[in-house]
Amino acid sequence: MVNLILFGPPGSGKGTQAAKLVEKYNLLHISTGDLFRSEIKNETALGLKAKHIMTTGELVPDEITVGMLRNKVLANPDVEGYIFDGFPRTIPQCEALNQLLSENSEEVTLLIELEVEDEEIVKRLLHRAKTSGRADDADESIIKNRLEVYKAETVPVSDFYDKLGKTVRVHGQGTIDEVFSRLSNEIDSTIVC
Ligand code: ADP
Repeated sequence: MVNLILFGPPGSGKGTQAAKLVEKYNLLHISTGDLFRSEIKNETALGLKAKHIMTTGELVPDEITVGMLRNKVLANPDVEGYIFDGFPRTIPQCEALNQLLSENSEEVTLLIELEVEDEEIVKRLLHRAKTSGRADDADESIIKNRLEVYKAETVPVSDFYDKLGKTVRVHGQGTIDEVFSRLSNEIDSTIVC
């Protein structure tokens, strides 16, 4: 199996690139942000818990996020691999993912980090707000909070996998196709070796 983590700040293009990678490599895309938004839309108990937290830009507690992710993985065992998008976002989530994969003698293959400057992120998210309807995209102070949370709680995830020799960093600016070809090159060189 190929178990990829697509990593990067909010608005770095993870969702856009994941959609293209899924087609090329035949993997299942799991976005915890999308899973939460679907729970909110369906007004589930989990959605109700996550809703307020998400509109402030803070992280949903690990036990809620990990439980939801685990259910999604266990419900889809017959796949060639996964693209995790927006997960793991904290060190306890890294440990939970390692545990979950190791139950099937699997491990994280590669973490690819999309590097995008803060200024570009704010621009992209404010633009996305016009069509996404996401409250967390529409307000610059919430975007700034998401970036702070990313730096404080999520950047250590990339270092965690770096210590295992599994992190690669890719320039996330340029056209969608340019970024996609950088990602594909990294994946191809890892899978071949
Ligand atoms: P983005 O990558 O643009 O910030 P996402 O759609 O991935 O947006 O996530 C939106 C929100 O959902 C986050 O700000 C956070 O509140 C919540 N969320 C998503 N994934 C996680 C996670 N792994 N752990 C905790 N909270 C999460």
